[in-house]
Amino acid sequence: MHEAAELDEWGRQRARIEDERRSTLVDFMELNDRTCRWPLFEGHEPFYEKLYCGARSIPGSPYCPAHAGQAYGVRGRPGSAD
Ligand SMILES: [Zn+2]
Repeated sequence: MHEAAELDEWGRQRARIEDERRSTLVDFMELNDRTCRWPLFEGHEPFYEKLYCGARSIPGSPYCPAHAGQAYGVRGRPGSAD
């Protein structure tokens, strides 16, 4: 029974974390120049489920600090043809 109680508590924590995370997500209509527009969906997902990060973006950047790091790690390397 002890294990079940722990699992239950973990389930509640996870649900709460996911609720909090979802509450910061925004859809395309809610994006503005102060929200991170890092896409959090795969290309095949339906339009109405296409959500973006929505965290506060760095001034002058379309992304929040975490996603700016990812973006510039992938793109913009010296010598990149992109
Ligand atoms: Zn972000």
